[in-house]
Amino acid sequence: MSEPANTPAPSLLRRHRAVMPSWMALNYAEPIEIVAGKGNRVTDAEGNGYLDFFTGILTNMIGYDVPEVREAVERQLATGIVHTSTAYLLRGQVELAEKIARLSRIPDAKVFFTTSGTEANEAALLLAAYARRTDQVLAMRQSYHGRSFAAVGVTGNRAWTNLSYSPLHVHFLHGADRHLPQFAGLSDEAYIDACVQDLRHVLATAAGADVAALIAEPIQGVGGFTMAPDGLFAAYKEVLDEHGILFISDEVQTGWGRTGQGFFGIENHGVVPDMMTFAKGLANGFTVGGVVARGELMDALHAVGLSTFGGNPISMAAGNATLDYVLDHDLQANAARQGETIIGGLRAAAGRLPVVRDVRGKGLMFAVELGDPATGEPSAQAATALMEAARERGLLVGKGGLYGNVVRMAPPLTLTDDEAAEGLNILIESLEAVNEAAT
Ligand code: PLP
Repeated sequence: MSEPANTPAPSLLRRHRAVMPSWMALNYAEPIEIVAGKGNRVTDAEGNGYLDFFTGILTNMIGYDVPEVREAVERQLATGIVHTSTAYLLRGQVELAEKIARLSRIPDAKVFFTTSGTEANEAALLLAAYARRTDQVLAMRQSYHGRSFAAVGVTGNRAWTNLSYSPLHVHFLHGADRHLPQFAGLSDEAYIDACVQDLRHVLATAAGADVAALIAEPIQGVGGFTMAPDGLFAAYKEVLDEHGILFISDEVQTGWGRTGQGFFGIENHGVVPDMMTFAKGLANGFTVGGVVARGELMDALHAVGLSTFGGNPISMAAGNATLDYVLDHDLQANAARQGETIIGGLRAAAGRLPVVRDVRGKGLMFAVELGDPATGEPSAQAATALMEAARERGLLVGKGGLYGNVVRMAPPLTLTDDEAAEGLNILIESLEAVNEAAT
């Protein structure tokens, strides 16, 4: 039966809710349809403009509609070749792999491309399990590594785990979770000692040192941009090296100079890992992921994860153009500088806003943690209110944290001085409004 002529067309939101999972498009009470992007700004279907401090989820690393990236993709499209195959040579893959291998600082590094961060972690875990002939791995409490079985298995954030089963035998270590009562009042040094003792105990008892790898995010992304204290990963690495256990740094959120200090997040900790996984911003929104690992590890497992679309020529063209742009414009230095301004500004404002529990971050990866001013307890409601308040004022941000009470921000590395000041002002105004409503 056809609809009467005067029935309004169902909104995109209604159509979305009817055929897409119920947990999608929940960031805002009125979800946004983004229809255009230019520079570091996007426009929604109603014509509202926003400064974008989250870019999808850290995907448009150098902003929107970047001519260098568009032209590289158009040149590749014009060749007619858009498929990938491990059967043939692909110039774009080799060029991008050369750059990543060099930047990784991993000796004799080789690169395998996937289409996502999840697949990258899956491949890294597979490589490690194969190299060490064991299915036991170490992971971090509150971590997030993706949505495949193995990636969920090493995810320590209960909100995202939803499973009591993992194909791997996983032991979770302490890192960014130092707020636990048993660690209260400990100096960084004493906390690191306690963590190392715990690792040694795990290896001596549960795991018996028959462990393939430790997988860890240098700064936990979905966990709310939480950080282990400086020196923890270096201390863990010493113990791992004693046993030949591999270290996988998940750089899906922290790579490409975003943290300002070090091109990969783990450089903040002075550690050279055995493998790193990456995805998100590398191709500025085009689909890409991968693993960079010591060559002997990569070569050992034949066809670690043949991937029909991994390393496809379009993503490689975009990846090469994006990475060149980051390096040519020294965006790592820009991330350090803009991050310092914004984090400093937020910290200064936080002192008079009891709704703010913490301001943290490095470079252009920073977060505000919110709490109930009366009780100090985590407040997801305040985080939601902050997102809405920022949206009303023209700023897009992201949400996360173990209790949903953290507003996360990762602006494009191309953020200008004016945009940093604009974003900071909006954030402070929005925080003031949320603070007032909550007190
Ligand atoms: N690892 C980390 C640290 C992530 O933040 C994510 C995604 O948010 C992933 C892995 C999974 O990446 P993808 O969503 O591309 O599969």
